Amino acid sequence: MSLAGKVAAITGSNSGIGLGIAETLAGLGAKVALNSFTDREEDHALAERLAREHGTEAIYVQADMSKGEECRAFVTRTAEHFGRLDILVNNAGIQHVAGIEEFPVEKWDAIIAINLSSAFHTTAAALPVMRKGGWGRIVNIASAHGLTASPFKSAYVSAKHGMVGLTKVAALETAEEPITCNAICPGYVLTPLVEAQIPDTMRKYGMDRETVIREVILERQPSKQFATIEQIGGIAAFLCSAAADQITGTTLSVDGGWTAL
Ligand code: NAD
Repeated sequence: MSLAGKVAAITGSNSGIGLGIAETLAGLGAKVALNSFTDREEDHALAERLAREHGTEAIYVQADMSKGEECRAFVTRTAEHFGRLDILVNNAGIQHVAGIEEFPVEKWDAIIAINLSSAFHTTAAALPVMRKGGWGRIVNIASAHGLTASPFKSAYVSAKHGMVGLTKVAALETAEEPITCNAICPGYVLTPLVEAQIPDTMRKYGMDRETVIREVILERQPSKQFATIEQIGGIAAFLCSAAADQITGTTLSVDGGWTAL
């Protein structure tokens, strides 16, 4: 499979799953636009490395996905730079854990903005460009928490359920066109975000690393294994392949059986 000639914009892609998807798509020949809210030398260096390693083109576009105008500008700037936009991956996301009564309002607002509203803005900006190009793939990174809930994650669970709803609406609005919109719903993936929680949890429960991973982090993941960044990248690539032309408006769980429980 080749994505040569295609252009992909991936929100929140200077680390973790977003970067992994960018690596996979670049590896298949797509030109990619990386993004985060920072504007550091290392962010731009990341795009240079990706282009060099995969023999493609890559740019880094600083844009804060908590701000609607910047979400739209990310899409517009990518399309202007490369002259087209074919693939949009809505991946940027943050988490905060607290009971509803104590949940800080500013954290609620930030999670809804970054994890959900950003996808509305980028999709609105991307659809006219995809229609003009005659082809489009929108891949939303939701979560097992887009299909099921956990206590203390009210904003995250609400945003991810919203993301699944937005996915269905975008799919229906483009159903007769060569554009699809789907959501990937990962269980736990061992990204730097999750890795950072392990030492604290080891201290809190007095457990070793293996026990924390198995008994605490992967408690609800029946396979007792993390999904990998590479697997999520592979599924994003599959959704961009011809085999997935008739897959639209649905969710693909990558959760080791979590949502089968
Ligand atoms: P991560 O922290 O490595 O990646 C999050 C990305 O979002 C980073 O690149 C970060 O810079 C970016 N980001 C954060 N705030 C932003 C903002 N305001 N504007 C632009 N970019 C911003 O974490 P990850 O685990 O790779 O998460 C990526 C996505 O996958 C998230 O949407 C997350 O909810 C989802 N997800 C992760 C897991 C998991 O177990 N790691 C499971 C299910 C879903």
